[in-house]
Amino acid sequence: MRFFSIFLIFLIISGGGCKQKSDDETEDLRHQKLLGRANLSRIKDLLHKLASPEFGGRGAFTKESKKTAILIKNSFIAAGLQPFKKSWLQKFSVRGKVDQNVIGVIKGTSEHYIILGAHSDHLGNVNGKIYPGADDNGSGLSVLLETAHILAKGKFKHNLLFIAFGGEEKFMQGSQYFVRAKSVQINKIDYMINLDMVGRNFMEISMEDKIPDGLGVLTSGVEYNLEKLLLKLAKKENLQLISISESLLRKFGPDNLYYDAIPFSRKGIKTLAFTTGLHRQYHTPQDTIDKIKFKKLIRISRYISRLLIKLAKIESIPKTSQPQNK
Ligand SMILES: [Zn+2]
Repeated sequence: MRFFSIFLIFLIISGGGCKQKSDDETEDLRHQKLLGRANLSRIKDLLHKLASPEFGGRGAFTKESKKTAILIKNSFIAAGLQPFKKSWLQKFSVRGKVDQNVIGVIKGTSEHYIILGAHSDHLGNVNGKIYPGADDNGSGLSVLLETAHILAKGKFKHNLLFIAFGGEEKFMQGSQYFVRAKSVQINKIDYMINLDMVGRNFMEISMEDKIPDGLGVLTSGVEYNLEKLLLKLAKKENLQLISISESLLRKFGPDNLYYDAIPFSRKGIKTLAFTTGLHRQYHTPQDTIDKIKFKKLIRISRYISRLLIKLAKIESIPKTSQPQNK
């Protein structure tokens, strides 16, 4: 009898395990139709452009910032997003100077929103020197745009909002404005996910190149089950997910550390802020394109896409192969 029950338990566990695994694999195969759209040369081209002298370091409230906004808008259109509330640009002004957020949406069937955000500005031209900001935040912005390209053909239950925030380096002007303007009802935002500096080895300033696949995440209000999901999905892209704290970042960076998830977490919205952390070129003219890990950016784009597929509850994936017109 004892033997029998142990045997039975074994059957249940192993049976359940197998089924779960195959479900997971089937789901993965389905999602590959979208994930397979990730494109290394597209992300390279885009980030080279953003970090080029032509974009002058993308200073907030400058003509280069407007130029960056047009590039983002065109990339959203190419991906297949829709404008948010009929306009791609959400303008805001500070002491008479105007800047903008660029917002695209994949419309869902519910009233809920999942937000993916990354700031588009950097420090611009300081005393005649261009600060290219390849990592800060050319990297996060490129991942945001690549994720839009990956997901735009999917149909989701919840609305997916892609926001390139302006004026982050001037004390989070764009994200503060978005929240203050009640662009979306606060209680309809399920999660805000932020990407800021994701193009390097993990915390190079202290670890150098010891954790090349490391990706830091700083969360607020996130439930245990989601933390488990974050780790599970990271493994699928060979990313080493590392939970970090603001105090760790402050230890190696500025005391007045801020990022675009803050205005959202202050309103009680669950936030996840992804970053590969600080390095010696942070806020210097040496934050250049040659130090960016492009293949890692693609893996992060796929990872964020996997996460959004889950959070926004994907409903269907249209066939990716289009009939060829002769
Ligand atoms: Zn930044």
